Amino acid sequence: MKNIAVIGAGTMGNGIAHTFAQFDYSVHLIDISEDSLKRGMATIAKNLDRMVAKEKISEAKKTATLNNITTYTAIKKGVKNADLVIEAATENAVLKSKIFKELDVECNKNTILATNTSSISITQIAAATNRPEKVIGMHFMNPVPIMKLVEIIKGYSTDDAVMETITELSKKINKIPVAVNDYPGFVANRILMPMINEAIETLYNKVAGVSEIDTVMKLGMAHPMGPLQLADFIGLDVCLSILNVLHDGFKNPKYAPCPLLVNMVMAGKLGVKSSEGFYDYTESRKAEKVAKMFL
Ligand code: NAD
Repeated sequence: MKNIAVIGAGTMGNGIAHTFAQFDYSVHLIDISEDSLKRGMATIAKNLDRMVAKEKISEAKKTATLNNITTYTAIKKGVKNADLVIEAATENAVLKSKIFKELDVECNKNTILATNTSSISITQIAAATNRPEKVIGMHFMNPVPIMKLVEIIKGYSTDDAVMETITELSKKINKIPVAVNDYPGFVANRILMPMINEAIETLYNKVAGVSEIDTVMKLGMAHPMGPLQLADFIGLDVCLSILNVLHDGFKNPKYAPCPLLVNMVMAGKLGVKSSEGFYDYTESRKAEKVAKMFL
């Protein structure tokens, strides 16, 4: 494997492109938005600058990494000659099926098609293609250049040989692959999201306040970040959508999203991205005051 195409230059896509390029793969980064491509490349350059400043890589390595990435706005051109395509476009099942239909037509017949989806069924995405045995989940964690884990998800029809190839490839980019089967939330979100939901329930039930809940989990469980702060960083809309996938997929009430989470998303309080969630990310510190009302 030498040529990797990455679809989507957002948070995850630019991190995936950065990582492969740093390990000398030729990367085609594809996005429908010219702006996203510009922002994605600027983020990669900034992250490489930080690595140079910390003396983790040389200036020459930074230049070589950037030179390994070419950007495209059309899938057809970008995936030509790709050995592997990793899709990291917006989390939307209809969009992903449409992209995979196009990939199936445009890619060589041996190209492996991977998706970085956090919650959509790999089996469902694979069903949009005529090569479901070559469709696989590669679930990277944010920020990709730093986080070691990649969940390798075996869809219902994924070939064992494809699992093996992607596992080996993940090791080559210095990640630690973990094989999991294709069930809602895979492993990471099936465990993480109920924990976050329970932290929100604890706040909703007025057992303790925001910083108290996060402090218990940080100091008591040695988590680097409390669950409410982590939810703010992930995005409360993303947390809600993943909980809905778990709830719909398993039909088990234990995954029902907390009404407080639903309310906050409806109110547009999405966490860091909207400047307000369980914590306030603006100067006004209004969110903490709102959270205290629940005590
Ligand atoms: P994002 O919104 O930051 O980026 C998505 C990008 O996809 C945008 O630049 C958008 O222009 C582009 N896009 C949309 N439609 C496209 C198309 N048809 N062709 C090409 N590009 C298209 O999203 P993100 O946070 O990077 O998430 C991407 C994927 O990674 C999602 O499936 C998400 O579930 C998954 N994921 C996200 C995280 C995270 O922490 N953000 C972690 C793991 C997995």
